[in-house]
Formats: sequence, structure tokens, C-alpha cells
Amino acid sequence: MKIWLDGGLQDIEGARVSVFDHGLTVGDGVFETVKAADGRPFALTRHLDRLARSARGLGLPEPDLDEVRRACAAVVDANPMPLGRLRITYTGGVSPLGSDRGDHGATLVVALGETSRRPDSTAVITVPWTRNERGALAGLKATSYAENVVALARAHEQGASEALFANTVGQLCEGTGSNVFVVLDGEIHTPPVPSGCLAGITRALAAEWTGARETDLPLDVLERADEVFLTSTLRDVQAVHRVDSRELPGAPGPVTAKAMRIFQERAGNDLDP
Ligand code: PMP
Repeated sequence: MKIWLDGGLQDIEGARVSVFDHGLTVGDGVFETVKAADGRPFALTRHLDRLARSARGLGLPEPDLDEVRRACAAVVDANPMPLGRLRITYTGGVSPLGSDRGDHGATLVVALGETSRRPDSTAVITVPWTRNERGALAGLKATSYAENVVALARAHEQGASEALFANTVGQLCEGTGSNVFVVLDGEIHTPPVPSGCLAGITRALAAEWTGARETDLPLDVLERADEVFLTSTLRDVQAVHRVDSRELPGAPGPVTAKAMRIFQERAGNDLDP
């Protein structure tokens, strides 16, 4: 397995970053996960734009997006696989211990792992912890994912694959690694970005392609929504068949099934929408 580090391809076994890398010591890094079917990254331009936005939000040096693009191409070429997930990690570089970043450059790692298509439907839970829609990291794809890791572990304990958060004012926000949509009276709604959710790329495409609206939604909308679905790079559009103890029999329902079809068709016809 080859990864990109320090400006070129390296064998993963020998690849090393410093123990003083800021991504490790204080967690100030940003990342992207990009799907690559048969070596072709999907929506790479949108992912690179978001990487640069997140880096700016954390005050990291501006990433060289040409290098990131070259790195992605080199890594998928070097590691052929039918369905891969590219992981781009970009951190605050190497500096002595302490939380002051200083001017120590940045670290770019691009790696590829195998993945598989997700089932058409899944179970989710809600968690009691909130997303801080007014926090410094709101909307940024920062590597500090510990809160998501904890929530996802709780979901797995309860036989679910995703945990949904409300924000500090009790509005539905997002999952640990996905955005959420609900269907009410035939109309599709998803929380707006100011709710504190990540501006998901799959979310943006699915909303545009299905005519979904951005709506502030209370968390308890999940108790009455006709249908619920998730979007993410690795899930695409995925129906929800259980929220906590509420079953949604027959998921994917008709509106979700149509959204799944539209997404597959449009995404299949355009690699970089
Ligand atoms: N929210 C969070 C917290 C995520 O980590 C992800 C995965 N990147 C998403 C939403 C979905 O975003 P995307 O569709 O760009 O994968």
C-alpha cells in the first residue's frame, strides 16, 4: 500500500509523521474522505474546495490544491481497488510541544482504504450531546472527531450505524459522519448549515437534485417524519428504518427511494458535479 506524504508516494509501512505534529498533539487538522470507484475520485473539486475552506477556518497555511489533486491521482493509481475511500489529512505541521502553532508549515497525507457499498437502509439513534452551532469549529471538517467517535460507539452498542445530534437550541443537526433529511407530507427537508451541520457534499447534491428545502427542524420531527434518510460520501443516499425505538417499516419509502434513484443516476453520469 502506497500513501502520499512529504510530497511523494511512500510505502505505508515506512511512512512516519513527527510525534510533534500538531494534528497529533492538539488535533488542529482538517480532512476529507473522497469516494473513488475504479480509481476515479468522485466530486473531487468540491472536496478540495471544502478542504481549503476548513483549513482557512482553522488558520492553517493555504493548502496547495494542485499537490492534493496530484497526490489523490498518484495514490489511486498506485493502489488499484474497485471501491476505495481516499483520506486526505492536512494538519498544522510540526512544532515544539504547546498549543501555539507558529509558522511550521503543514503536513499532507493522502491514503486509500477499501470500502464497500452500504445497505439501502439502516438504524440510527439520537444522542443527548449537542453540536455547538456557534463554536469555532462549526461547519469545518476538522480532525477533532472524538465527539463523533463517542457517539458512533453508542450507536453501534445499540445496533445502529449512526448517531444524530441536535444543536444547542434543540434543532436537528446531523450525524457523526452524515447529514440527515426528513420527509414531511411528501416534501423533503434538511437542516440548514447554520444549524451547525457540515455542508455535506452529498447533502448539497441530493438537495439540488431532489428539490429538498433547508428548514430548521426540532429534534422531535424524527418522531413524526414519514421518512428519514442520511447522506454522505460513503452512504450516498441511505434510508433509515429505525430511529431509537421508532420503526419506519418499508424503508426506503417512496420519496427516499426516488431520491436514491436520482442520486445514483446523476452521480453516475458526472464524476465531478
Ligand atoms: N457531517 C459530518 C460530521 C461528516 O463527517 C460528514 C462526512 N464527511 C458528513 C456530514 C457528510 O458529508 P459528505 O456528504 O461531504 O461526505
